[in-house]
Amino acid sequence: MAEIEGDSAFESGPRFAMIVVVHGGATTMALQLRPNCEYCDKDLPPNAVEARICSFECTFCADCVEKLHNVCPNCGGGFAPRPVRPAVEWCPGVSVTKSPPSDQRVHLSFDLDQIAAHSERIRNIPPEER
Ligand SMILES: [Zn+2]
Ligand SMILES: [Zn+2]
Repeated sequence: MAEIEGDSAFESGPRFAMIVVVHGGATTMALQLRPNCEYCDKDLPPNAVEARICSFECTFCADCVEKLHNVCPNCGGGFAPRPVRPAVEWCPGVSVTKSPPSDQRVHLSFDLDQIAAHSERIRNIPPEER
């Protein structure tokens, strides 16, 4: 079985970068809102209801999450729906315009066999027990 090196996915900086936003005078963290599915490259704009993220914000579409058996190829974690960032500035300074999405498209660096072996190893363990 192909083993995925634990650290190999973590070398490309922007993948796990955080964004700091000044929000109501306090500094808070905001999701990056990556622009595409890492697997099929489908566009996932900030209002995409089919966007899914892992805890590191690895971003995929709902169809690909199903194909991946809810196993993130980068970290092994499960996925949750990505919240939509409001287009309207309902609260001062807080909207898609004030905190725009990332424009850096992210792509998986694993081949299909590696991804399949990785999913196979983890898929039967519920995310909360991984
Ligand atoms: Zn996809
Ligand atoms: Zn992940």
